[in-house]
Amino acid sequence: MATPDPRAQLGPSKLPNVGTTIFTVMSALAAKHGAVNLGQGFPDFDCDPRLQRDFAEAVAAGHNQYAPMAGVPLLRERLSAKHARLYGHRYDAETELTVTAGATQAIMAAVLALVRPGDEVVVLEPVYDSYVPSIELAGGRPVYLPLDHRNGYAPDWQRVRDAITPRTRLAMLNFPHNPTGRTLRESDLRALEEIVAATGIFLLSDEVYEHIVFDGAPHRSLASSPLLAERTVVISSFGKTCHTTGWKIGYALAPAPLTAEIRKVHQFMVFAVNTPGQHAMARYLDDATAYEQLPAFYQRKRDLFIDGLRNTKFKVLPCEGTYFVLADYSAIADAPEADFAQRLVAEYGVASIPVSGFYAQPFDNRVVRFCFAKRDETLRLALDRLARA
Ligand code: PMP
Ligand code: GLN
Repeated sequence: MATPDPRAQLGPSKLPNVGTTIFTVMSALAAKHGAVNLGQGFPDFDCDPRLQRDFAEAVAAGHNQYAPMAGVPLLRERLSAKHARLYGHRYDAETELTVTAGATQAIMAAVLALVRPGDEVVVLEPVYDSYVPSIELAGGRPVYLPLDHRNGYAPDWQRVRDAITPRTRLAMLNFPHNPTGRTLRESDLRALEEIVAATGIFLLSDEVYEHIVFDGAPHRSLASSPLLAERTVVISSFGKTCHTTGWKIGYALAPAPLTAEIRKVHQFMVFAVNTPGQHAMARYLDDATAYEQLPAFYQRKRDLFIDGLRNTKFKVLPCEGTYFVLADYSAIADAPEADFAQRLVAEYGVASIPVSGFYAQPFDNRVVRFCFAKRDETLRLALDRLARA
């Protein structure tokens, strides 16, 4: 008997609009053309040798079996203390903090835990690529609202407020914002407090770039507002903070009842996260210099790159945080962003990310994203090439 064609058996895709991510596509093109890769966001320099030693020592000390489901206790205690010190809110290490396989898994676990079929979830475009697939797998419906690109990508809270219906369960936020670099003002927190008090929605606050903020401005965690902390899942990741995107260790902070639900999902997605990596991070976090030096470290790279772009036809947009900067190329070409990014990598040898990749609806603003988490010589090489465009 002939077996049925698996494609026919499969039926409609659960994620029909998902292809290979733009980050993977652009990294592959960078490799193919031998280009400087300022596309996908990762450092091309190594993490602190002390952290590497901490990892090796954790392995040698025998930390090689399953970690506790919620995370290594010492790491949870240190994270709890760090958040209390920086943002004034103490998450209970036992019941309010879960170590995850990067922020990506924290986001998916939180959305699967909170969003029910038919629920509406507000996202702000440009939106990080994992948010909408997470919502769709939970059976929710994304409601897209724009950041105002004519006004420095400021969030328009009145529009958010107006979009909330009785079906709205969650709003997903990300500040400092990938890809625009926008950070939160005090007034943003007050506006969010009003929305939460009036509507009772939950918030997911992706704060993976919390330590990459510039020009002396603070990072404003949603956890710093007692009212918001009650309704928010705060998510962060060591990938950005410790130059370890390949370790895939992140965490979710949330009030105990929300954490209990997130852990139900987490335990069946991964159960537990890399044990020696958690021990290494716990030891490393004992010394705050690692993340206290990060704003100055990246601000110098931002300025080197932005200054260099002044010798090109690109027009730089403001960058308040993250290790990305947006650049308008309308003085160079009138092509759509995806086409321009392809040309830039193939003809000029520099990979970028078309910002249209962060929009569900077609939206083309003649802007590409460059990642400046690179060695100075990498940035200079890219600048030489960009000057020819
Ligand atoms: N959220 C945002 C906004 C990101 O930019 C990234 C990755 N750079 C992530 C989440 C995923 O983080 P992780 O690599 O820890 O999964
Ligand atoms: N977050 C990274 C970026 O924005 C990419 C991570 C990934 O490739 N999934 O470039």
